[in-house]
Order: sequence, then structure tokens, then C-alpha cells
Amino acid sequence: MANASDEFALIEWLRAQMAERRTDRVLLGIGDDAAVVRTSEIGETLIATDVLLEGVHFSLPDATARDVGHKALAVNLSDLAAMAARPTAAVLGAVFRRELGEPFARELLQAAADLADRFAVELVGGDTCIWDGPTMVCVTLMGEPTGRGVVRRSGAKPGDSILVTGELGGSLAGKHLRFQPRVEEAIALHAAAQLHAMIDVSDGLAADLNHILRESRVGAVLDAERIPTSDAAHRARDGRSPLEHALGDGEDFELLFTLAPEDAQHLLAHPPCDVPLTCIGQIVSGSGCQLRHPDGSLQPLAPSGWRHRF
Ligand code: ADP
Ligand code: MG
Repeated sequence: MANASDEFALIEWLRAQMAERRTDRVLLGIGDDAAVVRTSEIGETLIATDVLLEGVHFSLPDATARDVGHKALAVNLSDLAAMAARPTAAVLGAVFRRELGEPFARELLQAAADLADRFAVELVGGDTCIWDGPTMVCVTLMGEPTGRGVVRRSGAKPGDSILVTGELGGSLAGKHLRFQPRVEEAIALHAAAQLHAMIDVSDGLAADLNHILRESRVGAVLDAERIPTSDAAHRARDGRSPLEHALGDGEDFELLFTLAPEDAQHLLAHPPCDVPLTCIGQIVSGSGCQLRHPDGSLQPLAPSGWRHRF
């Protein structure tokens, strides 16, 4: 007999939550051995997955259960946004630290379900374990391309303008847990103009731009004074300048993209979304990134940023 707070009670509770939210995209959701999901009409499906680990991507109790559930799905939404794709369905694997109890688990799952709702994504399955080790959440998200197809990292061309959404730096002050993934913005931008290359800023501006440069076999010049720095980057009192925070901090989850300069002018003059857009530099032929200071001097920019190490 299942007691009130085991794995199956939790799944039954989630299943009841999700049953009210079913769309006709999902032919079979939570409750069987696998879910059945209708794929896009053109038959292409995007898949992204991300793991969140207690002590690495979030710390308790600084992060609440809601923060963790939100972030677990939001990081995947941000990955699909970076492709200008529309997210459709998700599965969520959760390993809960036993001493946190069932209310923690429910709040975490509820937050993921709420965010899924907001983006018309269905949580169609997953897996649940309870142990004495750290909490871990892994979401796998499916999506479909939008009108102009997916935007890769590899499409940047010399002469392209480099744009970024929102403001960068200092995400550790809170944004990294509670950010809004730029899903609608990415789709609207790619509908308004042909984007050449895109990535979401998860490792840090310098590091993520470097991913585009390497994949596209091009270089870039960034204008130091044009990089939008967040209030949190200005408030940080750790000896690093707001610009250093904007270049090096990870987990801003803004969009970084390149497109033809005339298309960039058009987007900046007629923004198709509410989030601010800023042109921060230009793609050039060659390799590597240089930072142009207000006096005109150029400084090579190392692709600093967070990485996991053995
Ligand atoms: P199985 O033993 O076949 O893996 P489970 O008992 O793990 O089945 O899961 C039962 C059902 O509940 C499955 O449809 C599974 O996808 C779903 N499920 C389990 N855990 C979660 C979760 N954390 N989030 C969403 N669905 C879940
Ligand atoms: Mg299972």
C-alpha cells in the first residue's frame, strides 16, 4: 500500500494537476510507460536537456523549491529560444533529497508545471526518485521550428551586427533563479528579420559569443561602452567592474544573435518585442574577439566564463 508521501502519491498528484491542462497535441500523457506526442507538421522535432544539481546550480535554502522547479524548465526553454523554436512538451526527472519532504517536491513540480503552462508546454512524463543525496532535476524539452527554420550557432557572417536582449551581469544576485526565458522574443525577432546565428547567454557573454565565432569561423569586435550592464552588475561590490560582470558572468539567459546590418537597423527601429535590444558590435573575418574601448584601442577578449571541470 502506498503511503501518503511516497513516489507514487507524488506522481498521482502531478498527474491530476496535468490532466486539467491537456491539449490535443498529447495523445497520452503521465501514467503509462511512455508518453505519445504529436510532432510538428513538417516533421522536425528539437530536443534539449539540462541537469540542475543541488550545490552546483542552486543552493538550498537560498533557492526555494519554486525557484528550482522554475529554473529546471526555464534553462531548457532558453535553449529552445536560442534556436528560435517553439517549445511543445517536456519530461522531468527528479531526484529528491529525502529530508526535504514531499511539500518541497510538490512545490518544485508545481513551479515547473506553472512555467510550462505559461509557455503552452505540456509536462507529459518523467521519473521520480527519493534518496539521501543531493536533489537533482533533469528536464528534457521538445519543440518545433518556426517559420524561417531554426537558428544555429554557425551562421554568423563578416559584417553582421551583434545584438543582445536585456541587460547583462550580476545574475547571481537572483536573476539566475528567476529569469524569464526569451521564447516569444526569439520567435518574434526571427519572424521580423532573418537571424544568422544565435545562442542564449548561459556561460557568459565572452564565452557564448566565442561559441558562435568558433562555429561560424569568424571573429568579432565588441564595443565596450555599448554592452548593456544590469543594475545587479553595478551593485556588485567585489572589485570587478560592471563591464567585467557583463562579459564574464553566466546565467543571464538573454539572447545573443547576429544578422545583416540593414536588418539590425530595422529591428532596432521597429522592435518586435518589449525587451530592450542593443547592438554591441560587429562580426569580422578572422577569429577571436576584440573589445574596442572608447579611446579606440582594441583589447583581445579571452572567452572567460563558467565551465565544469574534472
Ligand atoms: P516506470 O516505472 O514505468 O518508469 P513511473 O512510476 O516512474 O513508471 O512513472 C509513472 C508515470 O508517471 C509515467 O508516465 C512517468 O512518465 C510519470 N512521471 C514520473 N515521475 C514524473 C515526474 N517527476 N514528472 C512528470 N511525470 C512523471
Ligand atoms: Mg520511472
